[in-house]
Amino acid sequence: MEHIVILTGAGISAESGLKTFRDSDGLWEGYNIEDVATPDAWYINPVLVQDFYNQRRKSVLEAQPNAAHYALAKLEEKFKVTIITQNIDDLHERAGSTNVIHLHGIITRSQSSKRATLTYPIEGWELKMGEKCELGSQLRPHVVWFGEQVPMIETAAEICSMADAFILIGSSLAVYPASGLINYVPNDIPKYIIDPKIPPVHGVSNLVKIEKKATAGLPILVARLMDSF
Ligand code: NAD
Repeated sequence: MEHIVILTGAGISAESGLKTFRDSDGLWEGYNIEDVATPDAWYINPVLVQDFYNQRRKSVLEAQPNAAHYALAKLEEKFKVTIITQNIDDLHERAGSTNVIHLHGIITRSQSSKRATLTYPIEGWELKMGEKCELGSQLRPHVVWFGEQVPMIETAAEICSMADAFILIGSSLAVYPASGLINYVPNDIPKYIIDPKIPPVHGVSNLVKIEKKATAGLPILVARLMDSF
């Protein structure tokens, strides 16, 4: 069975009402990322950081998957599919995709601030100060902050190197190390980028650029792949 590997970024969830970074001048919902998405921010003002992610979690829970998320789930009818996502929302899973790697964590879980491997489901939208992990330390959102290790990056790179086709959707390729994953994809396989503003990619062969929004471009591409492979 052919293995299709997909890398998604914030753009795939834009039409579900979740804002991207780069479309908002480098701010995330009006905040500088250094103030809310770094270990220093958590050290300096944990209440602000907790509240920021509580609001993001609320928006994610209120959002619904869109036609692009559903199109990717449909690929599983015919292919082995791995979705590597930079997104911290759970819209791929809610659309029915069963094999999703969250490079930057997932906002519906909490994480021990002492040991990152201890994670727990969150009931509802709010993670409160005072809620603790089994080691007695404050729970924080299960997201990878800027400046932190990306534990899944090596697994993701290996998966990219075994792809039979590769699709990139809705990422500016500005966030390292996810931005380098495309370089692990074999030269000779078909690759597609779907984005209304195609990000700069260099030295990548067999690349088809589809300059469209995800919900316009993906269902058509998926239908074509289902017919042609
Ligand atoms: P980014 O904000 O840097 O880039 C978004 C990309 O999506 C841009 O290239 C833009 O042209 C494209 N885009 C905008 N609307 C689109 C649409 N309708 N269809 C397809 N593409 C569209 O996003 P990034 O590269 O994923 O990096 C941002 C980081 O911020 C990630 O690490 C992620 O963890 C985090 N983030 C996540 C979410 C989420 O989980 N939904 C939202 C915002 C930010």
